[in-house]
Amino acid sequence: MQVTGEPSFRESVDLMFNRAAKLMDMSPGLEQKIRVCNSTYTVRFGVRLRGKIETFTGYRSVHSEHMEPVKGGIRFALSVNQDEVEALAALMTYKCALVETPFGGSKGGLCIDPRAWDEHELEQITRRFAYELIKRDLIHPAQNVPAPDMGTGEREMAWIADQYARMNTTDINAKACVTGKPPHAGGIQGRVEATGRGVQYALREFFRHREDVSKARLLGGLDGKRVIVQGLGNVGYHAAKFLSEEDGCKIIAVIERDGALLDERGLNVEDVRQWMNGHEGLMAGYPDAKYVADGVAILEEPCDILIPAALEGVIHKDNAAQIKAPLIVEAANGPITFGADEILRQKGCVIIPDMYANAGGVTVSYFEWVKNLSHIRFGRMQRRAEEARSRLIVEELERLSADQNLGWTLAEGFKDKFLQGSDELALVRSGLDDTMRTAYQAMREVWHGREGVEDLRVAAYIVSIGRVAQTYRSKGL
Ligand code: NAD
Repeated sequence: MQVTGEPSFRESVDLMFNRAAKLMDMSPGLEQKIRVCNSTYTVRFGVRLRGKIETFTGYRSVHSEHMEPVKGGIRFALSVNQDEVEALAALMTYKCALVETPFGGSKGGLCIDPRAWDEHELEQITRRFAYELIKRDLIHPAQNVPAPDMGTGEREMAWIADQYARMNTTDINAKACVTGKPPHAGGIQGRVEATGRGVQYALREFFRHREDVSKARLLGGLDGKRVIVQGLGNVGYHAAKFLSEEDGCKIIAVIERDGALLDERGLNVEDVRQWMNGHEGLMAGYPDAKYVADGVAILEEPCDILIPAALEGVIHKDNAAQIKAPLIVEAANGPITFGADEILRQKGCVIIPDMYANAGGVTVSYFEWVKNLSHIRFGRMQRRAEEARSRLIVEELERLSADQNLGWTLAEGFKDKFLQGSDELALVRSGLDDTMRTAYQAMREVWHGREGVEDLRVAAYIVSIGRVAQTYRSKGL
């Protein structure tokens, strides 16, 4: 989405990059090499549908191949264009470096309204798009590994994986050509909710640092915080659900494409989502909350935390000054334009930047890719061994207590929990939590410790650019 009078999405990402690069000591040549997008492939293909040939336009952009494979989602939306795909590919480079997933940055998109086609038609279109990318190695386990993004999910990823396998019948690593697949088709537990879960872990880590919380003029922990979420799709729904059900946040408003729902007591996110599922994705008519048709205006309502989780450019020069949230978590990619970012910073608003906030998806995608390459489910080897070792300890404690007449009894539930070895989901959550904590700490070290760094976004760019530069240097560039 291009906002009038503002730089395009890709220019916005580049300008944000430049703010950070200015504070770094890099050779000008290297700075330029990292910033530019290496290549963008545009494809136009026809599919016979409803008695005639429909032509579609798709893109796959590779921003940086400092590490391979390159990684990045495939978006299905009418707004997809080259500028957007290149901006998103650049963000993938920085995101992967920040959370230490060993990938370069890429992104793909297909100009299509997915709701305009039925499932069978969508499968034909997706397979044909995948065919075009696969034959040019733009989908490949060792070179370019897509994932879901706006408008795509497990179903589309399963079609892509199957298309690749059909075209590469002897590739033993075929399943690793794409991530975000359903668990029965080579996916991993916890991937669907990974980005929303990552948003939750990011916020939990932020609230562990009192100094950072006070920079956002907030107090205490997440419990009771009033949250507004834009977009109740994959990312927004999971983030809102986990924050309200597990951390005590109150989701006081949800903004969707047809308006917003408001409830000061906190919305029941699951209920709202169920309603949308049964009403073609629309909120209007939901009985248990106030409905407002002008959803965008709700971004400006007072709250503690604003989570834009829909699309880019929604907070821009014209509405930034009216935003009241002291803390914004960019669950979507690029929801704040370069111009708005400046206005918000001057107001003292703390922004947890996209390349960190929504990195949970690529993190768990990385785990899925490793799982596919190792051909074994996480936890399969060690789970029962862990349980056996824990059982030894428990039995020894019980024996000691009985022998010595100590009368010890283990707290209710402790034994069951302690005796449970880690299954795949537990390991994925642990790996994601560790990644989000470690990456936040790397950012805040730069935020608080480096001269001239005013905000988390610049800190995130400095960490990422530094890591990409290091890789280039070790390659002799
Ligand atoms: P999605 O298609 O599942 O959900 C998007 C939601 O936003 C939908 O419910 C849609 O109705 C709503 N929406 C669309 N236009 C809107 C508007 N103008 N106002 C309000 N709501 C609107 O997409 P998603 O996968 O949740 O992705 C959302 C954002 O998160 C995108 O920016 C995407 O790049 C980013 N992201 C997604 C993932 C992932 O794993 N899916 C990972 C990282 C980043």
